[in-house]
Amino acid sequence: MKKIFNYIDGKLVSAKNGDWIDNFEPATGEKYSLIPDSNAEDVEAAFIAAEKAFKSWSVRPVQERSDIMLKIASLIESKQQDLAEAESIDNGKPVDLANAVDIPRASSNMKFFATGILHYASESHQLNEVAINYTLRKPIGVVGCISPWNLPLYLFTWKIAPALAAGNTVIAKPSEITPMTAFLFSEICIEAGLPNGVLNIVHGYGPKVGAPITEHKGIKAISFTGGTKTGEQIAKVAAPMFKKLSLELGGKNPNIIFDDCNFNKAVSVSVLSSFANQGQICLCGSRIFIQEKIYEKFKSEFVKKVKKLTIGDPKNKETKIGAIVSKDHMEKVKSYIDLAQQEGGIILTGGGNRTIEGRCKDGYFLEPTVIEGLPYDCRTNQEEIFGPVVTLNSFKTEEEVLMYANSTKYGLSSTVWTENITKANRMAKALDAGIVWINCWLVRDLRTPFGGVKHSGVGREGGFNAFNFFTEQTNVCISY
Ligand code: NAD
Repeated sequence: MKKIFNYIDGKLVSAKNGDWIDNFEPATGEKYSLIPDSNAEDVEAAFIAAEKAFKSWSVRPVQERSDIMLKIASLIESKQQDLAEAESIDNGKPVDLANAVDIPRASSNMKFFATGILHYASESHQLNEVAINYTLRKPIGVVGCISPWNLPLYLFTWKIAPALAAGNTVIAKPSEITPMTAFLFSEICIEAGLPNGVLNIVHGYGPKVGAPITEHKGIKAISFTGGTKTGEQIAKVAAPMFKKLSLELGGKNPNIIFDDCNFNKAVSVSVLSSFANQGQICLCGSRIFIQEKIYEKFKSEFVKKVKKLTIGDPKNKETKIGAIVSKDHMEKVKSYIDLAQQEGGIILTGGGNRTIEGRCKDGYFLEPTVIEGLPYDCRTNQEEIFGPVVTLNSFKTEEEVLMYANSTKYGLSSTVWTENITKANRMAKALDAGIVWINCWLVRDLRTPFGGVKHSGVGREGGFNAFNFFTEQTNVCISY
């Protein structure tokens, strides 16, 4: 059985207690590897290594830090196929998706922040003839990066890259559900010559590894992506310790289709924004609001296209819908489909498990599910399901749909489909969301602020926002 190891002080090691956690392949339901069942002792070892490494990494010329990170990026590129296959096996996502999105984005993250740091300048303010100020930006120290399972290497690198580029040393905790590519990444860091202790990866459960990272007095900042409930727990611990905190949390994103939209594009992109990665992207639009006049036409075209999505072995080229990440998560998503029916919802397509013959017969497959007839304020339309389940809802006016869209506790992203630019701008301003896509979805420019409002998070990542988070400022005022 393949073993995944922690990466501490430049070495691949098991947990100090020698315990292991089973890791499953969602497409087959079979155990296929073991990960260290680490705890606070391993976090402490990582901290000692990171604290020591900070002394040299933080003062290393920025060009040298950048060069090492670029080497890591090019190694990711040279191992793209292996990494994509590993991601697909570990997560259940179609290998084509991992190849097209997850792995290229991981190397882009490294390249983007490795080169971005070369352009990150200090500010200077002149106060008439009295004084001149300059603002130093200093790395914080040892920081914690905690990431989820849905886009494993993509989000793992999104966090650690700006932290490292800015001169911090890092203790990272990937999700225990999808640890494989973070482990392969640690092998890449060794190959690239990343100095010992600069990045430390501790595997294991959230309460046993994530919590000790959050609670550690020496870890100065936490960048977390995951569920809103976990974010609350982290904030409760970190706030009284005055740690810097970046929280990227859950969503229940509206996808708003006005009757003056480009209909064909709205339908086909909505299929993607509903079901890409089995609906397990925080930015998926799970509540589709369609203007009354085109409701029936949209419903019929959308359902027709959803029925054609190929569900199957993530290894197959033609697969569009792979496996749900874990048995527990599949049960959670199914419980929401049951709830939707209890709340009066009508299932237009999907609604249950799909058995895939052959090697995937015991895998965790769910049909993409489309539901209509639910009120905007029922639980199905208010709570994050994070799976291949969307609701169709009709609306008459702009005011009405804004009320529906903004009615949840979340505010991550929104999508608006209209050819009327004035209306689009009005909507963008009025929606409670950190990100609004007009006539597109998941088009990402890494320079833009990324994050949510309300219970979808605190702070912004992306571009210089990430460097601002991972540095402290000291303003120096010099009298003339
Ligand atoms: P999760 O909150 O269960 O876990 C995320 C990470 O936190 C994992 O590594 C986990 O082990 C760790 N963790 C768990 N308990 C912890 C604790 N007490 N202290 C510290 N760490 C702890 O989330 P998940 O199920 O892995 O991911 C799905 C969620 O992530 C969804 O809600 C989704 O919307 C959200 N998400 C948000 C974004 C975003 O950018 N806003 C991106 C991707 C996913």
